[in-house]
Amino acid sequence: MYLKSIELTGFKSFGKKTELRFGAAIASIVGPNGSGKSNVAEAFRFVLGEQSMKSMRSKRGEDLIWGGSPALPRMNRAAVKVLFDNSSRLLDLDFKEVAVERVVYRDGQNEYLLNGTQVRLKDVIRLLAGANIGGSGYQIISQGEADRILNASSKERREMVEDALGLKLYQHKKAESERKLTETAINIERTQSLRRELTPHLRFLRGQVEKIEKTRELKEELTEKLLDYLAREHAWLTQEDARLSGESHEHEAELKKLMANVGETRSKRGNAGGLMLSELQAKLSEREAKIQGARRESERLTRELGRAEGALEANNVTVEAIVPVPHVRGFVRELDGIIAELEREHDIRNIKQKLAEIRRQIVSFINGLSGSAPDTNEEVRLQVAALSVSLERVRKEEEALAEELENLRRKIAGAREASLTAERDLVSLESLVREAQGKLSSLRTTRGILADAKRRFEEEVREGVALIGASMRSWEGALIPDGALSEERNVQEKRRREIERLKIKIEESGVGSGEAIVKEFTQTKERDEFLARELVDLEKSAGSLKDIIAELEKTIDVRFHDGLKHINEALTGFFEKLFGGGHAKLFVEEPRRGRHGANSLDEEDEEDILEEEELYAGLSISVSLPRKKIRGLEVLSGGERALTSIALIFSMTQVNPPPFLILDETDAALDEANSRRYADMVRELAAKSQLIVITHNRATMAVADELYGVTMDASGVSKLLSVKLEEAEKVAK
Ligand code: ATP
Repeated sequence: MYLKSIELTGFKSFGKKTELRFGAAIASIVGPNGSGKSNVAEAFRFVLGEQSMKSMRSKRGEDLIWGGSPALPRMNRAAVKVLFDNSSRLLDLDFKEVAVERVVYRDGQNEYLLNGTQVRLKDVIRLLAGANIGGSGYQIISQGEADRILNASSKERREMVEDALGLKLYQHKKAESERKLTETAINIERTQSLRRELTPHLRFLRGQVEKIEKTRELKEELTEKLLDYLAREHAWLTQEDARLSGESHEHEAELKKLMANVGETRSKRGNAGGLMLSELQAKLSEREAKIQGARRESERLTRELGRAEGALEANNVTVEAIVPVPHVRGFVRELDGIIAELEREHDIRNIKQKLAEIRRQIVSFINGLSGSAPDTNEEVRLQVAALSVSLERVRKEEEALAEELENLRRKIAGAREASLTAERDLVSLESLVREAQGKLSSLRTTRGILADAKRRFEEEVREGVALIGASMRSWEGALIPDGALSEERNVQEKRRREIERLKIKIEESGVGSGEAIVKEFTQTKERDEFLARELVDLEKSAGSLKDIIAELEKTIDVRFHDGLKHINEALTGFFEKLFGGGHAKLFVEEPRRGRHGANSLDEEDEEDILEEEELYAGLSISVSLPRKKIRGLEVLSGGERALTSIALIFSMTQVNPPPFLILDETDAALDEANSRRYADMVRELAAKSQLIVITHNRATMAVADELYGVTMDASGVSKLLSVKLEEAEKVAK
């Protein structure tokens, strides 16, 4: 006794709240046609989660709600509540009583409640399936549906049997696992697709990060090399600057000194070769003229002396005798000498002097020729004496002049020598000046180059700071690296080229510090790893779901075949009882291959379908009536069909008896004898299941422990009342 009561509020013809309490194993509901008995059976269907409107003789949810009558307005909701005795934990809930309630609203919305708490339909279905209260409704046999199991397709029949065998729970579990497996497969595919989408991006980011890493290494290398280079360069520049400015000062001082020397030497040269020399030369010319005069005088005196001495020797000499040939030759030589001097002379004064001299010589010569012989020897002697004295004087004078001339010539040579020396000195000084100027100019050039190097150095520092950061400034505090001041310049040049190459490499890499990329890479990698882990988890759970499904299929299969065997045993018994012989049997059909809805199925899917069809291979019935050679269901009479159905239904309840069974006029087509047999079997069934039988048959009413009469008043509202058998018979009419 699990079913305690059912309460209908606004459900179909039960416009008013009506409760039916069940206090015995068999309750019978009786009443006239159209009073609302079947509505009670449908109320059970409804509350147990029936989704087929057709099986509740409706089209929409709204049809289930009290439609109203002139006496009682329509309602907005229909509610049915069944109360289970759960003291033996029929339902897997920790309550002594469990109320299952379903409400439908006019907009078709449904609500399900378990002990007043709203739940989902599937929670209700699962809970009831656990108590072998199934959804296929084999335990609620509606009016005229007794032979539903005969009319059903083999697949539906199999479902009904499975339901009766309590396999629904496993089916639900299997369906649930399959749904989860499908979801998992979708998730696997989604995760794989996400990973596939991530892969190229991740590969790109990894490449970028490697580049960034490489660039970072290059930067480190650059930092190290640049710091060393800058420290060296700065040391070298400082040293060069000091050296060049020292050299400049030195050369400038030297040049200054040289210029002073040049000035001095120039004035020396001017003095020696200029005024002094011309004075000396003038003096020399004058003295030369004088000495010429003295010479001529001396010669004249010598000639005169010779003539006088000659006259003295030969007192009667003629003019011709007096003018001897040597005398003429001497005169001519003398003239020639003066003319030669004349030719050399440039000074007009001197020229005039010489010409006057020539004239005088000529006059003197002519006079000498025209002279008369000396008067006396005495006179001649005197003349000779006088002439000797004069000659002596003139010769002394000549000697003095010659000496003076010699002196003058020495002085002139000395002056010329001094001038030449000064000139030479000047030449060598000027060469030194040029040299010093050359050095200074080359120093200026070198300093210009150094200034360029300094500018380049500043530029390099700026670039370094821009590329590496302010840490680049640390070269300032660094010690001067070894060999910085002594090494060959090309060693440093080599370093500079190496640094340039590094800079180019860094620039070519085209990546900055790349913090954002590194971050994105880390995040993407983490995401990919997360997805990979998720994939492993998903595949694991797909694996275990497959195992669960396989296990469930096995259980279902075993239980099904086992249960089928028991059903057939019971069927044989009931069949014999009802027909007094013959037999009927349920058997599994050969699985047939067929197509499901979807058009584009690949091989794998087809295999799945085949498996499913094999598992759900339908159930057929073979019937053999006593004394009749018929086997097919099609040839059975209405009563025979009813009896076969009843035998089937009853045998199905035997293996895994449901807590309750509702039979709505299942006995309608039976004759009296069969009605009695039917009533016997109902009593038999009641040993295992609580029974609610809707009937017009007296025999059936007679086996009921309690009877309810359903009536419908003029307002169209169904009413329930507990009745006695005698009353029931009356009510049923
Ligand atoms: P029978 O003995 O002929 O099988 P019954 O006692 O089983 O009859 P039901 O089929 O349960 O009768 O009841 C049918 C009655 O319920 C009809 O009179 C019908 O008008 C009424 N009914 C069905 N749905 C509604 C509704 N939504 N509102 C009001 N009345 C309804």
